[in-house]
Amino acid sequence: MNEDVVIIGAGLAGLACARTLTAAGVGVRVLEASDGVGGRVRSDHVDGFTLDRGFQILLTAYPELSRWFDLDQLDLRRFQPGATIWTGSDFRTVGDPIRSPRDLPSTVFAPIGSIADKLRLLKLIVSVRRGSVPDLLRRPDSSTRAELERLGFSPRFIKRFFEPLFAGIQLDPDLDVSSRRFEVILRMLAVGDSAVPAKGMGTLSDELAAGLPASAIRCNAPVRSIDGTTVTLANGDQLTSDAVVVATHGPSAAELLGIPDPGSRPVAAIWFDATNEPIRNRRILLDGAHSGPMKNLAIHSEVAPSYAPAGKTLCVAAVPGKDALHPNLESDVRTQLASWHPGARSWETIRVDVIAHGQPLQLPPLDPRRSVRLGQGRYVCGDHRDTASIQGALFSGRRAAAAVLADLQSKPPQ
Ligand SMILES: Cc1cc2nc3c(=O)[nH]c(=O)nc-3n(C[C@H](O)[C@H](O)[C@H](O)COP(=O)(O)OP(=O)(O)OC[C@H]3O[C@@H](n4cnc5c(N)ncnc54)[C@H](O)[C@@H]3O)c2cc1C
Repeated sequence: MNEDVVIIGAGLAGLACARTLTAAGVGVRVLEASDGVGGRVRSDHVDGFTLDRGFQILLTAYPELSRWFDLDQLDLRRFQPGATIWTGSDFRTVGDPIRSPRDLPSTVFAPIGSIADKLRLLKLIVSVRRGSVPDLLRRPDSSTRAELERLGFSPRFIKRFFEPLFAGIQLDPDLDVSSRRFEVILRMLAVGDSAVPAKGMGTLSDELAAGLPASAIRCNAPVRSIDGTTVTLANGDQLTSDAVVVATHGPSAAELLGIPDPGSRPVAAIWFDATNEPIRNRRILLDGAHSGPMKNLAIHSEVAPSYAPAGKTLCVAAVPGKDALHPNLESDVRTQLASWHPGARSWETIRVDVIAHGQPLQLPPLDPRRSVRLGQGRYVCGDHRDTASIQGALFSGRRAAAAVLADLQSKPPQ
């Protein structure tokens, strides 16, 4: 087979699609609007620091990871399981007693909810670990908050634990996201690790791209429109192929294909050089006190020393939701940080990332496996077709490639 397929977008979904097609002997051309591959998963090197585009973590339990990557080669640096919670006056640790029994006492006595809440959490973790991921995705769906309330969690525990944790992961401070997605993520947290590759999250994208022929990817090539299987670039160039796969984020796919826009959850990240007055902690720090727009803080170089030059400390503060777009973002986060740790006044800002489309909305009822086949040689993939995650993007890219291959193979010879 030597068909030509045009893929629009070189994020994880587009790259996974391109790799699958290439492996099957199909020629691909990937058109990417920006100056590099990776989309939302890219890393930059700034003054010796490695900065991802926004604060991201890799959940090692994602089933797609081992399909695409040699996890040893990624040289993963792992967060300590559990979380450290800012209660408004001090920091308390909540662990996962199933994985780390010595965290049991601090978890039981942390003033973030009742003993009954903590037992409910244990029961929920046991429940999401049972069965398969597709089983979880078939459970009845509601908002995450409604599900937590149904399970009997107290408002205090929801506010102090679930809100800051899932605000960070689902970019969802209000816990509106589908409970199916929430339960899948909780399972990933419970059975695997939270990690980053030593050289930055962008390693994932770079590794996928490295498996493609060098000439397959064209950067700085934004696509303006699609007519049938003819693609017109912003500079007027046109390409016609047997199949077109739109692997952009949801809003751009909606514009190019006229499909519904899946909505956007914004997010911001502020990267600090905290060398002067560092915090030392390998767990994620959560704002259980709702003390400002920042929902979590990671002392990144404690987890992955390679993210900072020797002797330096790199921290990242994450602000999910509409606060990310507030004009006073940086000063509000600085005030909040100073209330946690007065030494943070001396931290130097390295970069502020504001990302208008962090993830699609993923409201209930969530269809975690939306069709990738649009008919007449057109296909769509990306995190808006599956779960809004690295896992969802990779899986949807592979699904789109499988649909293209099946259609090309069933096409009568010309
Ligand atoms: C700050 C942040 C934190 C996150 N944290 C996590 C996390 O911890 N764990 C997790 O699993 N997921 C996380 N996510 C989500 C995850 O990064 C995404 O779900 C995933 O990367 C989406 O990949 P994609 O290929 O579908 O889309 P994208 O990465 O958006 O790729 C789409 C590509 O299409 C290109 N493009 C757009 N329009 C055009 C056009 N007209 N012509 C040509 N090219 C075009 C874009 O430039 C881009 O490169 C996070 C996202 C953000 C932003």
